[in-house]
Amino acid sequence: MIALKDIPTIRQLYRTSALSIAKTRRYPLIEAHLDRISLLQGDITKVQVDAIVNAANRSLLASILVDGAIHDAAGPKLLAECRPLNGCETGGAKITKGYDLPALHVIHAVGPIYDSNDVETKESQLASCYLNSLEIAVNNSLKTIAFPCISTGIYGYPIEDATHVVLDVVRKFCDTETGKELDRIIFVVWSNTDRALYEKLLSEYFPSDSE
Ligand code: ADP
Repeated sequence: MIALKDIPTIRQLYRTSALSIAKTRRYPLIEAHLDRISLLQGDITKVQVDAIVNAANRSLLASILVDGAIHDAAGPKLLAECRPLNGCETGGAKITKGYDLPALHVIHAVGPIYDSNDVETKESQLASCYLNSLEIAVNNSLKTIAFPCISTGIYGYPIEDATHVVLDVVRKFCDTETGKELDRIIFVVWSNTDRALYEKLLSEYFPSDSE
């Protein structure tokens, strides 16, 4: 189990030089954001937060990889709660309890299946499933949420393109009044490549002046 206190914020990651000062700043520095955003490499099913987000498919019935791992760790009651939800459209999200997971809830977000001939639609669907998840968290008075890299596995979204879309929508959300309702947004990456990419791009979307 990974407790919130053991998950570094990006302020801490700047201090340990895991994040460096970016040459390109896409947004201004906002100090409060540095304590609100985290990056963690590991297994999202172990994270003890108010909600973990599942990279679900439209049926909301368990599939493989992150979805399968979440259902395995949550136990059969999760699938039983998902069945009557009647699926979810691409870009949408629905919340359930977390059952045997350390997380209290699961927000099942449906990312797009990538198609290089229709990038604009895919970008807006990816942004929308992150934004819907964040809004569901706030509407349920949740304070801490962890995201996997939605759509970048089997759904084939190129990780770098996806990460720009994700960090842009999350940064814009953090800049709103509603964004202040959340204490922590954690990006959970699985591979070393994904971690390195998030480390680079986080410093562009959530810049800091000091290490
Ligand atoms: P999608 O179908 O939306 O592409 P996948 O489950 O195939 O979703 O993959 C999404 C991302 O989740 C990938 O980067 C994959 O490596 C990562 N992943 C797989 N298992 C886990 C896990 N237990 N915890 C966190 N991330 C995971």
